[in-house]
Amino acid sequence: MTTAQLRYVPTTEVAAIVEQLRGEGARVLRGTFADNAGVLRAKQVPIHRAAAFHAPGVGAAPSWAVFAVDDAVVFTQRFGATGDIRLRADLDAVVGVGGGVALAPVELADQFGRPLDYCPRGALRRQQAGAEADGVEILAAIEVELTCFEGTTGLPTGGPAYGMAPLIRNSAFIDDVHELFQSAGLEIEQFHAEYGNGQIELSLEPMAPLDAADANVLAKVLLCTVARRHGLALSWSPQPLFDGIGNGAHVHLSFTQGGRPLLSGGPAPQQLTDDGAAVVATLVSRLPEAVGMLAPSLLSAARLQPGHWSGAYACWGVENREAAVRLCQATPGNVHGAHLEVKCVDPSANPYTALATLCGLARHGLHGTTALPPEVTVPPGMLSDDERDASGAVRLCDSQESALDAADASALLRQILGDGLVDAHLAVRRHELELAKSESPEDLVERFRFAWSA
Ligand code: GLU
Ligand code: MG
Repeated sequence: MTTAQLRYVPTTEVAAIVEQLRGEGARVLRGTFADNAGVLRAKQVPIHRAAAFHAPGVGAAPSWAVFAVDDAVVFTQRFGATGDIRLRADLDAVVGVGGGVALAPVELADQFGRPLDYCPRGALRRQQAGAEADGVEILAAIEVELTCFEGTTGLPTGGPAYGMAPLIRNSAFIDDVHELFQSAGLEIEQFHAEYGNGQIELSLEPMAPLDAADANVLAKVLLCTVARRHGLALSWSPQPLFDGIGNGAHVHLSFTQGGRPLLSGGPAPQQLTDDGAAVVATLVSRLPEAVGMLAPSLLSAARLQPGHWSGAYACWGVENREAAVRLCQATPGNVHGAHLEVKCVDPSANPYTALATLCGLARHGLHGTTALPPEVTVPPGMLSDDERDASGAVRLCDSQESALDAADASALLRQILGDGLVDAHLAVRRHELELAKSESPEDLVERFRFAWSA
């Protein structure tokens, strides 16, 4: 059971955790903070100060809420030069990763230990605790899709799509990835060369939402650690190459209430239960206002195009890879049972904010009466305008500005995430609108290629 607040681990437990980390060779505890620009920031302490990093936490300026993708600090009325916060390392989620390092996700608190409303991980913790209090179990997994570049030449590492050759060419790197993931307790379910030049993808097993977001961040850190040893550079940019294929961060979600799966075995269309249909309906109808949280960066709109399996249309359909919400049914081939794949999410999003948004929308659906729109069984981009209007598929915002404006105007997002987080997110992302004005699209792709890497 998740509590709505980061737990104060009792002193005896802290001592045992630190002792174990030391036994595994950890010399430092490194706290990872995924910020509102989706950038991974960090602070570390020598291992003997791990308990203090957990509580009360280490000091930081409130500007940690408003660091932008180019490292500008986007001061607002709330976030300025005064004030002080605490970065708290969650010792319940700490992992030894070798090389003398233990990694823990960081959550933001004030000097009295109170959670701060603009903390992305705190927002997801609240959503998960809320779902658990409602008796709903949500399982989530975020696909890890990225593009590999040669460190020396700066060129992508090549194809072919889904090829054997990339796996052989990069086998020393991939071997080390499997070894490090295993020792960190991250189960890789599959690993393959993706469609784009140098693109790879790996899938992790479904977990509770907070664990799934932690696993996504940990996976990025581990992949980058290994890549550096092999002279590779990894990109999580939504558009890693100007003329290339985008990177997504598709989110898989399933829901169970009282042991009853909500996405299968029911009387609604495609065996959805009535509650499952309400979740699908709410996700589909609210994606246009949520996409500013899910695909929020200055390169997101370039990826979110029809014909790229990126979910550019808000609609749903069984195994429809052009729908933002793909329903995977409970067939013998789906070992984790029925689930939804939300495809419009990309890796420039903060994974905690993205999952908090989706969990919050799902919970809202369960409490509401939104009617399920008709299923869309074809790629919506191939329909005529009239046919598409009749199908109910809605093109998701095709500019960062309109996506952010829609999020700003959403009372529901503010209810789910809190004004503090929504406003910090919008301040940071609107700064990107200014950046985008001053450079060509080609230059933006180059400049921010590694902005979301570790
Ligand atoms: N690269 C696609 C995207 O940007 C996803 C391809 C796939 O895994 O289906 O979302
Ligand atoms: Mg993929």
